Amino acid sequence: MQRDMYRELLDFFFPRFCAMCENRLALFEQYICVGCLRELNRIEYEGKDKHGVIERLFWGKIPIERATSMFLYEGEKTRKILHNIKYFDKPEIATLLAKVFVQESRGNGFFDNIDMIIPVPLAKKKSRKRGYNQCDYIANGLGVNTGIPVRNDIIARIVNNPTQTHLSPEERKTNVEGIFQIIKPEEIRGKHVLLVDDVITTGSTILSAAKEIAKAQDVKISIFSLAFAGEMIRTSLP
Ligand SMILES: [Zn+2]
Repeated sequence: MQRDMYRELLDFFFPRFCAMCENRLALFEQYICVGCLRELNRIEYEGKDKHGVIERLFWGKIPIERATSMFLYEGEKTRKILHNIKYFDKPEIATLLAKVFVQESRGNGFFDNIDMIIPVPLAKKKSRKRGYNQCDYIANGLGVNTGIPVRNDIIARIVNNPTQTHLSPEERKTNVEGIFQIIKPEEIRGKHVLLVDDVITTGSTILSAAKEIAKAQDVKISIFSLAFAGEMIRTSLP
């Protein structure tokens, strides 16, 4: 009771606001209001036998098992959420979203038999400037809520490639070739790893990391990102 009063007082003097709609948060809400959370346009993981559009990005390129994203990157609100996570010092939002994803994935098999979660490493220069890697926060949110261990010492980023934002798909591909290096291949051999990123656009960055992981041999790879910014989701493939 006393604790509730304390929270109410705290909320009165230091109100918190939703990172998407900027409305005031209710006492029980964290970072994003319930309405906005519900509004995020989910990409439904259809199960491993119905290969989704995101999974198709990786076919024939790596030993892909499953791939999905939580929601579509569309419009101002999702842009705001990802910028808050990436640039404005609110990576905890990523942990919250990862937790919601785990809760909503119960029973669909997405996390079945995954041995390890690996966040895509950030360029050293970028993480020094920002102070954190947002992918670590996503990975930890998934790890804590599934019980699957998170490892960020398996691959490293060795090149600070220029930002991808203004490049064409073809340029993106060559921009990220060879930017990752596997450090401990023996620890993932025979394992099923889940690689985690914040946004998948063409898939070139995460593909580059996955190719490096595949060098360990006898590895299964699954892929997850919070948002999917690609185009092909809207076209229904056979
Ligand atoms: Zn909101």
